[in-house]
Amino acid sequence: MAETEEDTLSLTIWGVRGSIPAPGRATVRYGGETTCFEVRAGPHTLVIDCGSGARACGRALARRGIDQLDILFTHTHMDHICGLPFFCLAYDPTVEVNLWGGHLPEGSTFEEIVERMMSPPIFPVATSALNNTYFRRFHGGDPITLGCGLTVSSTRLNHPGNCCGYRIDWRGSSIAIITDHEHGNPKMDAAVAAFVAGVDVMIYDAMYLDTEYPRFVGWGHSTPTHALALAAKAGVTMPVIFHHDPDRTDDALDALRADLVRQMPTAEVARERMTITLRNGERIDAPEAAFAAPA
Ligand SMILES: [Zn+2]
Ligand SMILES: [Zn+2]
Repeated sequence: MAETEEDTLSLTIWGVRGSIPAPGRATVRYGGETTCFEVRAGPHTLVIDCGSGARACGRALARRGIDQLDILFTHTHMDHICGLPFFCLAYDPTVEVNLWGGHLPEGSTFEEIVERMMSPPIFPVATSALNNTYFRRFHGGDPITLGCGLTVSSTRLNHPGNCCGYRIDWRGSSIAIITDHEHGNPKMDAAVAAFVAGVDVMIYDAMYLDTEYPRFVGWGHSTPTHALALAAKAGVTMPVIFHHDPDRTDDALDALRADLVRQMPTAEVARERMTITLRNGERIDAPEAAFAAPA
């Protein structure tokens, strides 16, 4: 991975799956970990979600050596928080970690929800073991000024138990994270389209194929067809299909990718450890590198 420069914006995907990790021979190429993104905007580093991919992400950040980190959570379903107890920097007293949660189910706080997960006998280590790590609240839909000084936009998404999408703009480049989200609510669809308008890279929850979706209406996920339609409507350069069903094999994702690229040559399918680097809104990493075997 190239060093991030002052004027570049990069996204590294540490987990691509929805629902549950899916390791095994059929998922080696696209990866089996659940949601975790690392975003670097010039000198700022932030993480979005701590699914199972957060374990490797934390180790990579520790190797790089940082003393401050903001982690934004989209929501508190297990596939987006299960890696937090295994995120090494949250226990490291030399690293200040801010955990940001907003737009949660009525009457609950992010801290209480994480405490429920990290409590014996469900999990042996309680949140009191976290070190130099702080729970921060924000109002979903509002901009958030992070501990690192960067301001990130947020929007409310259509998902059971609520969810937040994020948009990071940096020196003429932009990335939006739209997961987990179901299309079909006209008011929210319009708000999401406005939120991602003109963005260079859009991660989008396309867990179900068109043929599968009718069985899962109301489950809170969308389709590749809607990803491309939204990209066309909102002027998104590069939609990236994300939140792969745990049963979606590498071969099935290859076929999906071929179909998407035929319709929109800049479309991509999220792959574990893929890094997309932008400068002035242009992709400057070699796209082939994104499809090399994971390290
Ligand atoms: Zn999910
Ligand atoms: Zn979810």
